[in-house]
Amino acid sequence: MVLSSSSHRRVQRIAVIGAGIGGLTAAALLAKQGFRVTVYEQADLPGGCASTFRRRGFTFDVGATQVGGFGPGGIHTQIFAELGVPLPESTPCDPACAVYLPGETEPIRVWRHPERWRAERQHHFPGSEPFWQFLGDLFARSWRFQNRNPVLPPRHPWDFWQALRAMRWDTLDTLPFTFSTVGDALAGFGLADDRRLRTFLDLQLKLYSQVDASETALLYGATALAVAQAPLGIDHLHGSMQVLSDRLVTALKNYHGTLHCRQRVQAIALNPLRLSIHDSRHQQTSWQEADLIVANIPIHNLAALLGEHLPRGYQQRVAQLPEPTGAFVVYLGVHRSALPDHAPPHLQVLDAYGSQGRSLFVSLSQEGDGRAPTGYATITASEFTPAAPWFAADVPYETLKEQFTQRAIAQLQAHCSLNAATVIVREAATPCTFARYTARHRGYVGGLGMRVPEFGPFAFSSRTPLERVFLVGDNIHPGEGTAGVSYGAQTVVRQICQQFG
Ligand SMILES: Cc1cc2nc3c(=O)[nH]c(=O)nc-3n(C[C@H](O)[C@H](O)[C@H](O)COP(=O)(O)OP(=O)(O)OC[C@H]3O[C@@H](n4cnc5c(N)ncnc54)[C@H](O)[C@@H]3O)c2cc1C
Repeated sequence: MVLSSSSHRRVQRIAVIGAGIGGLTAAALLAKQGFRVTVYEQADLPGGCASTFRRRGFTFDVGATQVGGFGPGGIHTQIFAELGVPLPESTPCDPACAVYLPGETEPIRVWRHPERWRAERQHHFPGSEPFWQFLGDLFARSWRFQNRNPVLPPRHPWDFWQALRAMRWDTLDTLPFTFSTVGDALAGFGLADDRRLRTFLDLQLKLYSQVDASETALLYGATALAVAQAPLGIDHLHGSMQVLSDRLVTALKNYHGTLHCRQRVQAIALNPLRLSIHDSRHQQTSWQEADLIVANIPIHNLAALLGEHLPRGYQQRVAQLPEPTGAFVVYLGVHRSALPDHAPPHLQVLDAYGSQGRSLFVSLSQEGDGRAPTGYATITASEFTPAAPWFAADVPYETLKEQFTQRAIAQLQAHCSLNAATVIVREAATPCTFARYTARHRGYVGGLGMRVPEFGPFAFSSRTPLERVFLVGDNIHPGEGTAGVSYGAQTVVRQICQQFG
C-alpha cells in the first residue's frame, strides 16, 4: 500500500523525470487531461534508449530498432489516435526475425502470418506442436485479460477493482501457471532435451524478458513468443526510432506541456514535494515544486533519488534484485553491397551452443528507410553483457571495448561482407555509454528480468510507496520495449486521473 505523504491537495503541476518513450507517453496523455506537465530530460535529445545519433550521413538507432503495437488496436496506434498526432510510418517486418542456430545456414524465420509460422516451426521442431498450441492458448487468454485494462500489480482499492473486473473464467484457467516457467512447460511436454528448440526459445525470450526459458515466467513468455504474429506483429519505422519521441513531444506541446532537455533531476524532497534540477546548459541548480511526480527512470535510479524517503523494505527489495543486464552494441555504416541479398530487417545469430555461445541481435536498415544514403546501409548488432566488468578496472575499458567490437564484427562476417572498403563508420556502445547518455544506473537496459518473482502480479508497481510519486518505464509491468512502456504509461495516467483528476 502507498504511504500518504500529504492530504488530497489539488493536483495541477506534474513533473515528469525523463523523456524516454514511457515518460513522454505519460506526459502527453496527462497534458491532454489538462494537467500542467513539465518534463525534465538530462540528455540533449528526448527518446532515451529509443533515440538516435548521426555520423557522417548515417542515422543509428541507439537501442530499440523494432516496434510492437503498430497494428490496428495496437498500443502505439491507440495512443497516437488519442493524442491526435499521426502514427509514424512503418513497414511490417515479415519475417520479424531470421534466427541462425550454430553451424546452420538455413535460418528459422519467425513469420508474421500465424499459419506460415506454424509450418516453419513444424519443419524446424518436429513433435513440438502441442507445446506451441499450449503456449498459444495461454497467450490468447492472457491477451484478452490485458485488453480489458487490468492494473497489475494492484496497490490501491481502485487497482484491485480494475484487476478484478478484467478477470473472466478463461483468465482463471491461467492462474495455475502463475509460478511456472517456460522451461517447466518444455519439460511438461517432454521437450526439455530438444537442444535446438530450447536454444531458439532462449534466444527469442532473452530479447523480451532478459532471461532464458528456464527462468522466464510462463505467462509472460507465452505473450513474448506471440508478439511477432498477426494480429500483433513487429514493425520497422521509417526515418529512425527518433520519430516516435518527436511525435510524442509534438503532442505534449499541442497540449501546452513543456520539455526541458539538459536538465537533470538530482534529488527529490518532500513537504512540499520538490525536485532539485541541474541545468547543464547554464550550469545552474534550482528547486522546482510539483504536486505530483512521474519518474521515467529505472528502479535503481528511483531508489537513489528518493533515498531515505523510501521505506527500508522497498530499498531492500531493490538492492536484492538479481543484477539486470547491460548491452554492448556495434553500429556500422556500410556500403549496401556488404549486406546479403534479400536480407530481412532483423537477424539473430548464435555462434556456439552452451555457455561459450554468443548471440547477436542484428538490425539491417532497408533501402530508402531514411537511415542511410542511397546505396548504403546501417548495421546495428547488440548483445547482452554483464555491466560489472565495464566499470571495473581489471581490463582497461578501451581494450575491452575493442575486444568486443572485433568479436562482434568477426561474428557478423558470416552474414555480411565487412572490410576496409565496405565499412565507412564504426562506433560502439557499452554499459558505460548507456549509463552516461541515458543515465541508467550502471547502464542496465531493457528492464528487469521477467522471472516469476518479478513479473505481472509480483512486479514493481507504478505506484511507489509515496502517494504522489509514480513510476513509468521498463522496470514496471508489463516490462520492456516501447510497446511495454506505453502500456505502463497508460496505466499510470488512468491511476492519476482516477485519484487526482
Ligand atoms: C540495445 C537495445 C536494444 C533494444 N531493442 C529494442 C527493440 O528493438 N524494440 C523495443 O521495443 N525495445 C528495445 N529495447 C528496449 C527499449 O529501448 C526500452 O525498453 C525502452 O525504450 C525504455 O523506455 P523508458 O521510457 O522506460 O526508458 P529510457 O529510454 O531509459 O528513458 C529514460 C529517460 O530518462 C532520462 N533520465 C534518466 N535519469 C534522469 C534524471 N535524473 N533527470 C532527467 N532525466 C533523466 C534519460 O536520459 C532517458 O532519456 C532495446 C534496448 C536496448 C538497450
